[in-house]
Order: sequence, then C-alpha cells, then structure tokens
Amino acid sequence: CGIVGYIGHRDAYPIIIKGLERLEYRGYDSAGVALFDGTKINLTKTKGKVIDLKDKSAKENVIQGTLGIGHTRWATHGVPNDINAHPHYSNSGELVIIHNGIIENYASIKEALIKRGYSFKSDTDTEVLVNLIEDIKKKENVKLGKAVQIALNQVVGAYAIAVFDKSKPNEIVVAKLGSPLAIGVGDNEFFIASDASPFIEYTNNAIYLEDEEMAVVRIGREVKVRKIKGDKIV
Ligand code: GLU
Repeated sequence: CGIVGYIGHRDAYPIIIKGLERLEYRGYDSAGVALFDGTKINLTKTKGKVIDLKDKSAKENVIQGTLGIGHTRWATHGVPNDINAHPHYSNSGELVIIHNGIIENYASIKEALIKRGYSFKSDTDTEVLVNLIEDIKKKENVKLGKAVQIALNQVVGAYAIAVFDKSKPNEIVVAKLGSPLAIGVGDNEFFIASDASPFIEYTNNAIYLEDEEMAVVRIGREVKVRKIKGDKIV
C-alpha cells in the first residue's frame, strides 16, 4: 500500500503514476488517483495494478491537474473492488481522501454519521473518516486542517492520510500515525509520499512526519508540522 500526492505547477498525473509504481513493492490490490485543476475533480480508481489504473485513465481522458493524490490499497475493510479503491469522496463531493492504515472505531462513527444523514458507497473505514472530517468542518465551521485535527482526535487506529478540499485548490492536508508519510519540499511545489522514492528526482528536501503529526501543505507557505493532539492549527 502506498500514497503519493503533488501540489505545484506541474501536471500531477505522471508524477503520481510514476510514484505509485515506485511504491508497488509495498504490496496492494487496487489503485486510484484524483486530479484537481482548480475547478474540476477527476477521480479514477480500479481493482488491480497501477497498469490497470493507467489503462482506465487513458480511456477516461483524465484532466490535467496541478493537484493530485494517488493510492495503492491493501484492503482491510471491504473487499478489493473498484468502489472500495481509494481515493474516496465525502458526501458533498467537496473533500477527497487517500488513506493507508485502519480506523478501528469506524463502525460507531459510521452509525452516528448515518443518523446525521450521511450515506456510504463503499465498505471502507476510510469513507467514514472523510465524512467525519466533512461533518466536523460543517458543524464547527472550521477549515480543513482544523477539521482533520478534530476528526483524528476522535479516531482510534493507524493512518497516513492526504486530503484536499475543492474550495482550497492550494492545499493538501496530511497526517500520520503508524503508517509512513514524507513531504518533499520543492520550489513552490510539494510532494507527498509513503517514502521519498516518488520525488527523489525533484527535491532532496524531505520532511518525515512523526507519529501523531500533521501538516497543512499550502503553496506559498512554509510547511509547519504540528501535533495532532494539542497544537493549535491555524
Ligand atoms: N483501511 C483502508 C481500506 O481498507 C486502507 C487500507 C490500506 O492501507 O491501503 O480501504
């Protein structure tokens, strides 16, 4: 399983596909990518290999986006199929997430969200997390980074996540507990990945998140790593 993300000025798709190929050694059963051009989100995912994702993307004419997140999945909740593959949208379609790891208390959170009107397309724990983030964002009227922080204080489990918000084309929020996550810092561009191999030719400036750390990765701003428990997210 692996995650790759890009935000900057280049076409994200080839960077993400190449990155996912470099992370194939980690093992996986499905692959997917979401691209965002500031207006439209293009999400393609499939059971199978990165090569299958490339084939499907070619057929679907993926958009050119300068923000993208890609994932290889090793299923823990929900069988390996196209629907359970990542990325996952929130109910409104405004948030998109990729996740490696397990949300152990997803069932009780899912039940509470269903009571609040949320519905679920997949059987994954991950789709529960992205809707929890959305619910908090709306309910508390906070920005994405803060909503992610509050949500992660409610979940039990392990994760490396990357999530973006359609209303914030300049940022990707990342967090880690248990699964690895590195941020590659370039010149007005950022890379996100399970290890540095997807961005090694672009930058040798890497930040490795520690457990229980998160960061709002935003164009035009220095990356500030914060503690999920305690630090104030601004
Ligand atoms: N628990 C998530 C799922 O089953 C993520 C699995 C992974 O680490 O790829 O979809």
